[in-house]
Amino acid sequence: MTDCIFCEIVKGDIPKDFRFKDENVLAFDDIHPVAKVHVLFIPKEHIAAFENLFDDAILSSIRKGIQKIVEQNDLVGKGYKIIVNGGGGQVINHLHFHLIGPTGLHAPVV
Ligand code: 5GP
Ligand code: ZN
Repeated sequence: MTDCIFCEIVKGDIPKDFRFKDENVLAFDDIHPVAKVHVLFIPKEHIAAFENLFDDAILSSIRKGIQKIVEQNDLVGKGYKIIVNGGGGQVINHLHFHLIGPTGLHAPVV
C-alpha cells in the first residue's frame, strides 16, 4: 500500500535489522522503545487492523516470532506484554503486535 511506513519497511525501502522473519511476518525494534525490549511484529501483507486479520498462518508466525524473542531476551520470570492497538486506537494503520519487556512481575494492564 502507498503511504504506509510499514509497507515501505516490507519492501526494503527503509533499512532495518530484522529480529525475526519468515514467509508471513517481519519483526523489528520500535523506533521509540518504552522498555529494553520493544519489538513490533507485522504481517508482510498490508492488513489495516486486527479486526481485518483472518489468516491464521499470520497469527501462527507472530506467535512463533514472539516466543523466539521472549526466549532470546530471557523474559520468562521478568514479565512481558503483548499489545495490539486496534479499532482506530492504532496510530499506524498496518497491523502490528508490540512485544514489550521486561515489565516486572504482576504488572498492571497499562
Ligand atoms: P500504535 O500506536 O499504532 O500501536 O504504535 C505505533 C508504533 O510504531 C509506535 O510505538 C511508534 O513508536 C512506532 N513507529 C512509528 N513509526 C515507526 C518507524 O518508522 N519505524 C519503527 N521501527 N517504528 C515506528
Ligand atoms: Zn502497510
